Amino acid sequence: MYRHTIRGSRARGGQLRVATLGLFHEANTFSSTGVDWAGLEEAGILRGNEVVDRFGESGSAMGGFLAAGREIPRVEVVPLVFCRLTPTGPIAGHAFDRFVGIMLDELNEKRPWDAVLLALHGAAVAGSATDADGEILRRVRETVGESVPIGVTLDLHANVTEEMIRRSTVTTVFRTNPHVDARERALACAELIASAARGRVTPVQALVKIPLVPHILCQGTADEPLRQIMAAVEAVAHQPGVLSADLALGFPYADTPDLGMASIIVHDGDPSAAQAHASMLARLVWEHRDKLWTEMLSVDGAVETAKRGPHPLLLLDVGDNVGGGGPADSTHLLDGALGHRVAGWLQTLYDPESVAACARAGVGSEVTLWVGGKTDGLHGGTVCITGRVERVGDGAFEDPTPTHGGQRFFDAGPTAVVGCERDMILVLTSRRLPNTSLNQMRSLGIEPDTRKVIAAKGVIAPRAAYGPVVRRIVAADSPGVTRGDFTKLHYERRPWPLYPFERDMVFSP
Ligand SMILES: [Zn+2]
Repeated sequence: MYRHTIRGSRARGGQLRVATLGLFHEANTFSSTGVDWAGLEEAGILRGNEVVDRFGESGSAMGGFLAAGREIPRVEVVPLVFCRLTPTGPIAGHAFDRFVGIMLDELNEKRPWDAVLLALHGAAVAGSATDADGEILRRVRETVGESVPIGVTLDLHANVTEEMIRRSTVTTVFRTNPHVDARERALACAELIASAARGRVTPVQALVKIPLVPHILCQGTADEPLRQIMAAVEAVAHQPGVLSADLALGFPYADTPDLGMASIIVHDGDPSAAQAHASMLARLVWEHRDKLWTEMLSVDGAVETAKRGPHPLLLLDVGDNVGGGGPADSTHLLDGALGHRVAGWLQTLYDPESVAACARAGVGSEVTLWVGGKTDGLHGGTVCITGRVERVGDGAFEDPTPTHGGQRFFDAGPTAVVGCERDMILVLTSRRLPNTSLNQMRSLGIEPDTRKVIAAKGVIAPRAAYGPVVRRIVAADSPGVTRGDFTKLHYERRPWPLYPFERDMVFSP
């Protein structure tokens, strides 16, 4: 049970000066790609107004924190520094320390603060820190002291830790997957933190870890059983005295001692009520554990099914889930499509070399390329294709509609469109980008709904974009660092016992 003594000396209606900052990273510890300082810079280390320019109008958590400065009376939100990474392998220890050092310097130099708002993911790993988010919170708490309330928002895929909850005042978690409520949950966090800073509420937090990781295909919050579980979370959030109620699903591809689900309750002053609600939600999840696991189609089975239709059909490359740390260049499905002679195929593939070759050849040229499978040996071999360069572009596009995570501006890097036989279209990119926006295709002159099979590198995230334009969605258990049946991956640090690895286990929160 965790509570902080908040200064409360601020006049109840006085102006609050609130810092916002963060590092948003989901680490796939099975991935061979890591992040060093250059990787952070490439993702964008944004300072001050740069944060507003990039995220001010977005539906992201940082967008919600910035909106708090406009929507909550007498609250000034000051953006300090923020970096949002595409999920990949862990951050190098020195790069993490340097970035967090900037966060702490900014907090020190621009103090005093009435509160701090942190936009974190909750599944970051950096150097030897398997709980990098907890480490950020620990250092920030040490810097601002015990009396300044700290609010934090986490992604639904957070592996929440005791450290995160102990060092924060209020924790809120996205409640939707695809994540379309990031801004809303951050704004809710900011509102609670403003109330806490004014002494109007006394947040106490309870965390119950649930020794379970749901299958990635069972993580849609609009589908059962999560639909009813999230409805129960909402109901708890409306109980008297409850300030916030959340459930984190955990991130299966971060092999850490904190892997797993968790329930989190923020209560106004009553630790035992917080604990009781958190335990109740944990029990509810546990009762549904059988429905949080599923069997999947093999690559062959999935490609055959995709070929049959009905079309257009969205085929999910689960093992190369870019939003979960996949390398974006797996060729398992492409290989299957060529082998099964599937017509009307569309997919992206990360391959800067081949993009450069297309650019050199020029639009209209015929090219023979060895594409994909270049990051590591886990995602299929390099595949030979012959086709015509249809288009070459800078890969930048915008999507103002609600997308997964609320992102608006996208950058796939230099991009080439290659048209191959049987009306196959390959979109080759120079950056690893999840397929979360139809505009990724439309900006290149491709209408996704005119294609027969769209192979997307993701599981849940592509559905917000592609779901409305396809007639069927099929998932393939393709090998890779985000394999659907993750019990086939080799874990070294995960907790034991943990469902579904260990099925005969007792859990009674
Ligand atoms: Zn997520």
